Amino acid sequence: MSESEKRTEISDLGEFGLIDHLNEKVIIKNSSTLKGIGDDAAVIEAGDMVKVVTTDLLVEGVHFDLSYAPLPHLGFKAVAVNVSDVAAMNAVPKQITVSIALSNRFSVEAIDALYEGIHAACEHYGVDLVGGDTTASRSGLVISVTAIGEAKPEQISYRSGAKENDILCVTGDLGAALVGLQILEREKEVFLSNPDMKPDLGKYTIVTGRQLRPDARVDIIHELREMDVVPSSMMDISDGLASEIFHICKASGVGATIYEDKLPIDKQTFDTAVELNLDPITCVMNGGEDYELLFTIDQKDFAKLEKHPDIHFIGHITKAEEGKFLVTKSGTAVQIKAQGWKHF
Ligand code: ADP
Ligand code: MG
Repeated sequence: MSESEKRTEISDLGEFGLIDHLNEKVIIKNSSTLKGIGDDAAVIEAGDMVKVVTTDLLVEGVHFDLSYAPLPHLGFKAVAVNVSDVAAMNAVPKQITVSIALSNRFSVEAIDALYEGIHAACEHYGVDLVGGDTTASRSGLVISVTAIGEAKPEQISYRSGAKENDILCVTGDLGAALVGLQILEREKEVFLSNPDMKPDLGKYTIVTGRQLRPDARVDIIHELREMDVVPSSMMDISDGLASEIFHICKASGVGATIYEDKLPIDKQTFDTAVELNLDPITCVMNGGEDYELLFTIDQKDFAKLEKHPDIHFIGHITKAEEGKFLVTKSGTAVQIKAQGWKHF
């Protein structure tokens, strides 16, 4: 087969392989581009400050299902997931643009409901909606948000700064959004097979809420500033803890050891996972869409964060050749496998 006829499936590369492939042909021309592709957001010089820029696309049928995602929640989430990538650079979000593609299936009232959530998020995160684009779609709703944030250059945390003996930290708790998604999918099936059955989600409000309307941890960024701590590396947890540990280790050229008994999981997440016959630790390690922060700190900063109620110290950074391991409650070291979400 000649070169021109060669066909490589996207699934052969996977999402991250495809991004690496696209990045190979990118040549940075401007010295103001401090960081291009490869982190949670790009970093651009702007006077004494730097700006960070990130964009995310939400596609109906891939990222959300309107049979259970209320439009105001969806609008909020579209903003939150971008703001989360700004926070992941240790920057403060300031502006967003919102672009939508829609079919005539949507009424003005439906768009108003979506924007109710977008405005609520702008209020919540203190960001301004400064533009966007509106176009027609023949295949459901598509929402693209771009977020811009600001920081002093020395405040930026890249994925690449983790050093041996740094402490690995995560905020909040993990796995809830995946468990919430499983509950929403289960109830949808029940409803489809028997429309008279009214779904009873009352027991699952934490997990379903975390799936439908996640909150980005901008609060932590402000607190880190108050405590005078700049994480040596940071990213947000959108694809699952295991996958994000791989990213930090790859970018920083290090290994990591984490401890099962240190992993934060909410009681409702744990109980619901068990009810669904899912292993709670697998949900924590490989669940997606938590939008918590994973970061590393130098040991000298530990005392400043030690008492924080919502920051958990899950392990430490090792040499690359020591690999990536999860030490179970019984003391066995198991190699971490990055699964994350595969869209292809
Ligand atoms: P996140 O999960 O934090 O949003 P992604 O995994 O989506 O990050 O993206 C990783 C990096 O690849 C980011 O720097 C992002 O800007 C870049 N990227 C993703 N898709 C493309 C694309 N189609 N073209 C150029 N850069 C891309
Ligand atoms: Mg991210």
